[in-house]
Amino acid sequence: MPIKLLSEDVASRIAAGEVVERPASVVKELVENSLDAGATRVEIETRDGGRALIRVRDNGCGIHSTEVGLAFRRHATSKLESADDLERIATLGFRGEALSSVAAVSRLTCVTCHQSEAVGTRLRLEGGEVVTQGAVGRPAGTEIVVEDLFYNVPARRKFLRTDRTERRHIDGFATRYAIAYPDTAFTVVHDGREALSTPGKGDPREVLLSVYGVDLGSELLDIPRSLTATDAIHVRGFVGPTSVHRANRGYITLFINGRWIEDLRLSYAIIQAYHTLLPVQRYPVAFVIIDMPPQDVDVNVHPTKAEVRFRDGDAVFRAVQRAVRATVVNQAPTTATWSPPEHGTEEDREIQRRRLAGLQPAQQQAIRFTWDDVPADRGDSGSGSVGFGESDKHASTTQAFDANATRTESALSPRPGTTDQQHRQHLPMLRVVGQLATMFIIAEGPDGLYLVDQHAAHERVLYEHMVANAVQGEVPRQPLLEPAAVTLPPDEASEVEALMPTLAAVGIEIEPFGPATFLVRTVPVPLQSIAPGDLLADVAASAHPDGPGATKSSVQSQMEEVIIRHICKRAAVKAGQVLSREEMERLIRDLEHTENPRTCPHGRPTIIKISTEELARQFGRGGL
Ligand code: ADP
Ligand code: MG
Repeated sequence: MPIKLLSEDVASRIAAGEVVERPASVVKELVENSLDAGATRVEIETRDGGRALIRVRDNGCGIHSTEVGLAFRRHATSKLESADDLERIATLGFRGEALSSVAAVSRLTCVTCHQSEAVGTRLRLEGGEVVTQGAVGRPAGTEIVVEDLFYNVPARRKFLRTDRTERRHIDGFATRYAIAYPDTAFTVVHDGREALSTPGKGDPREVLLSVYGVDLGSELLDIPRSLTATDAIHVRGFVGPTSVHRANRGYITLFINGRWIEDLRLSYAIIQAYHTLLPVQRYPVAFVIIDMPPQDVDVNVHPTKAEVRFRDGDAVFRAVQRAVRATVVNQAPTTATWSPPEHGTEEDREIQRRRLAGLQPAQQQAIRFTWDDVPADRGDSGSGSVGFGESDKHASTTQAFDANATRTESALSPRPGTTDQQHRQHLPMLRVVGQLATMFIIAEGPDGLYLVDQHAAHERVLYEHMVANAVQGEVPRQPLLEPAAVTLPPDEASEVEALMPTLAAVGIEIEPFGPATFLVRTVPVPLQSIAPGDLLADVAASAHPDGPGATKSSVQSQMEEVIIRHICKRAAVKAGQVLSREEMERLIRDLEHTENPRTCPHGRPTIIKISTEELARQFGRGGL
């Protein structure tokens, strides 16, 4: 289609707004154009985080010499003809605004040659005005060089973040498109250093390996084609097995019809698909690509096209949730280490069935979930509803128990966020009675029954241990016999690299080893059990300024604290882990010695107490 100016009518129906916010938005617009032009090679290069220079070169169809000037006019596009076309957009671009907007705030050079022509065009613009135009030889394709971004908008320039942050945004974008477009070879080079390079041979798995490294890349599960929910909505992509999880939602990526979008509701569909399968407050890694008829999705709702609207949102939600859930349930190795007692009672078996319900597709409908459950913790009713307390037979006792638990807990433990140093209450001596549901330790104290969440308690113990060591500047570290090479996605790698001194302070000594690979040389002694790859992934996640685990603080000690908190979560014993009596006793003793035994480092309770009086009252022994 030739490039034409949109009519007033069509132009006015286009979601207007700022397209160029930062270097990454320029990269996004230019790469989208390259993909729309059918490129099988896209090379991205930046200098100074994109401030000084952004170059995007492709081998797409090129722009015809007669149309190059027009392409830089506002509302000039070859992708839209009539208002009707807005209803079924199959290209990434359609508004004819990107080139003009980028040119307006930079010094831009476009060198392009249309596939039908022998000679190409070179066009130079400054602040949107054409300065020179001439003929030049080059093979079919387009190269756009954007220099001095925002040179004429000082206010914008001032608000750009650090080079590193800008690079991270660019890498995050390029990485995702590289995965979604495996037929296209992507390279990203920052300041002469290669950050990403994908083969473009059409094999998505190969791209995953080059982006995520062998560890994560080979672990991700394919969403099988057969799970496609309806004829109209096809869901494909990759999801992590239940053993892979992250501290925030930043590892959930959604594509609709070739476009990366943000959609809270669909992210939630994916999180929900993992409900009960991941540790609390951990999020899945997922790359979900949805293909559906363009007329069923409206992309003309957001200036940067990052959000879409569906004709039937519920159908898309269901399709995604079903495909992801089925993939995880069918293929994931079972995470429960709990084995049934050989001669269990019917009640035991019922309990076990309910505990494992989350692993069985047939139980899906039984799983209730609300928004509030997303950050649910084990101490609240979220897990109770899928756990062992749901049997009708036990309904009344369960309620009574919950009511007590809530009351007692709020009286005992500081709410999340309140560090209760002044009123520090040490634990009384506790006698271990046993383990409940491979999740809780039952203990007796001088004045009642104590239920200890084994994971939360262990997290607390590890955390205080690590912090104490870090404060004294002597975290004991364990050299790895063989340094472990860990490859991270480029955006994470730059985070981790920036944190190297902080990491060393908490016992993790690493050194760069190739573009996005690190050699892990030592790990902190209390956390030896964590795989080095997981360790670094946690660190990157904890430093991620966009996620819920965010910290923007540059204060080293705060960063140390955040890192320690994250890795302790990973290292602590899990729910579902059978503990020996000695292990339980050691954990309780260790917990007694902590400063804040009653909450885990994330502020959730470690202990629930039911007083003897309360029990007596429940049993109708009011007079005790
Ligand atoms: P849009 O992508 O919304 O159409 P742009 O301002 O991004 O608007 O681009 C204007 C037009 O310039 C496009 O419609 C397309 O015809 C042409 N164009 C831009 N970039 C390229 C490219 N890399 N290869 C071929 N054509 C391009
Ligand atoms: Mg465009």
